Amino acid sequence: MIGLLKKIFLVDLFQGLFVTFRNQNPKYICTEQYPAERPKIAERYRGAPRLNTNPENGETLCISCNLCAVACPENLIVVTSERNEKTKRKDLTMFTYDLSRCMFCGLCEDACPVDALELTQDFELASYTREGMIWDRQALEEGPRPTEYKC
Ligand code: SF4
Ligand code: SF4
Repeated sequence: MIGLLKKIFLVDLFQGLFVTFRNQNPKYICTEQYPAERPKIAERYRGAPRLNTNPENGETLCISCNLCAVACPENLIVVTSERNEKTKRKDLTMFTYDLSRCMFCGLCEDACPVDALELTQDFELASYTREGMIWDRQALEEGPRPTEYKC
């Protein structure tokens, strides 16, 4: 009998609607309004790689030692250099980083003796092409430039 009355008066339907409308209360809404509002990234998050330069003269901090490439378990970093006969140092000629294979473990960053390579908190790494996931030296020095949306 009770079950029949519940069916007649659509009790289950109204109970469901009550739950739905109760959760429309703004205090229960936790949707991030990205990209209008950028999320707060965890302090220890490891994201886009950056090849740091000297802020005074803009020259790369990388000394072409290749330690990051050796440390990487995915072998995705390629560093090439040539010996400068004047300074007797190795000059960086190419640095590529294949983001599509990176697992952001941070081993390359830890291996770098001069803090030239860093995994930053930039998280917008999507690309429409596979080639776009391979960052060259310029991309690594400039960092990602995501589109900024404003309301
Ligand atoms: S974060 Fe890990 S997987 Fe990515 S390049 Fe560095 S060492 Fe390789
Ligand atoms: S470990 Fe650091 S200094 Fe050495 S090649 Fe990599 S980024 Fe350059």
